[in-house]
Amino acid sequence: MLRVGINGYGTIGKRVADAVRAQPDMDVVGVAKTRPNYEAEQAVERGYDLYAAVEDRAHQFAEAGVETAGLVDELVATSDVVVDATPSGVGAQNRSLYEEYDTPAVYQGGEDADVADVSFNARSNYADAEGADHVRVVSCNTTGLSRLIAPLRETYGVEKVRTTLVRRGGDPSQTGRGPINDILPNPITIPSHHGPDVQTIFPDLDIDTLGMKVPATLMHMHSVNVTLEAEPDADEVRDLLAEQSRITVVDESLGIEGTGQLKEWALDRGRPRGDLWENCLWGESVTAEGRDFYCFQAIHQESDVVPENVDAVRAITESADAAESVATTNDALGI
Ligand code: NAD
Repeated sequence: MLRVGINGYGTIGKRVADAVRAQPDMDVVGVAKTRPNYEAEQAVERGYDLYAAVEDRAHQFAEAGVETAGLVDELVATSDVVVDATPSGVGAQNRSLYEEYDTPAVYQGGEDADVADVSFNARSNYADAEGADHVRVVSCNTTGLSRLIAPLRETYGVEKVRTTLVRRGGDPSQTGRGPINDILPNPITIPSHHGPDVQTIFPDLDIDTLGMKVPATLMHMHSVNVTLEAEPDADEVRDLLAEQSRITVVDESLGIEGTGQLKEWALDRGRPRGDLWENCLWGESVTAEGRDFYCFQAIHQESDVVPENVDAVRAITESADAAESVATTNDALGI
């Protein structure tokens, strides 16, 4: 069994912990947090050993009556791999801790690409991360775009990608985020950082991205145009995308008109936390005009990177190839 430690137990970390625990070949050694709160209470409730991430604040756990198993250093020392799910920028600061104990680490998309030896998306470049010590799972949006672009490149060739990302203002738990009543070009400059980030996965890809922020918390929405090198039939592209295990082609018969109904569908299906690990791509939106492909896809920012983190652990430890890892992860989670 691979012993996996999770440093940072927030939106991403708590989901990765549960996903790792569900795998047949992995155990969660423990999770680290900076302070006691409802998520720390839940970590204990779920039976995870809780480690204090900051020594100076460790006393806060005892004062709140939350039992800890030690300091984060001990977690790092006893883990085969650490998944760092701390806030953007903290992962880079933590790299020296992982190096000190010679523990390979998986970082998140909020970090700059140079935090790691390789940026990772299981569908697109799993093999690049095999045996690497420091791997960065790309952001929720980059994950969603990479999953879509990989099969299009392989099957038709891609001349140019143009995408507008309509992004949620904050996650549901981020009470201080906005906008509340506005629509922001964000960033105002073009391209947004997402295009260059996708190029960390496909270095030779021609891609322009535009970003916006809207008063929503549930999901992001991508409006996608890809100029292909071949002239495909729309039904063929739709079938190709439907074959991808981490793309759900949302059928017209479901009557799902937006992200609210997608999330409701996830909850109705008993998905943990209402998570949608797959890209949700509207089948009716799949359009081919000459060599131009168009679609809308929604991305659940809180969960689409979760299976990718699990696969990154297997890639680092070279314990499975891409197809085996993705199949095992999907099977364990119910994707
Ligand atoms: P979060 O704020 O929900 O969780 C971060 C957790 O780390 C919190 O529990 C916080 O207390 C803890 N923490 C803070 N400092 C720490 C430290 N020094 N050591 C250990 N733990 C510490 O953040 P998140 O949304 O889970 O984001 C984590 C990473 O994942 C970021 O890089 C982010 O960009 C990326 N990401 C986030 C989303 C998203 O939509 N939330 C999607 C994809 C990727």
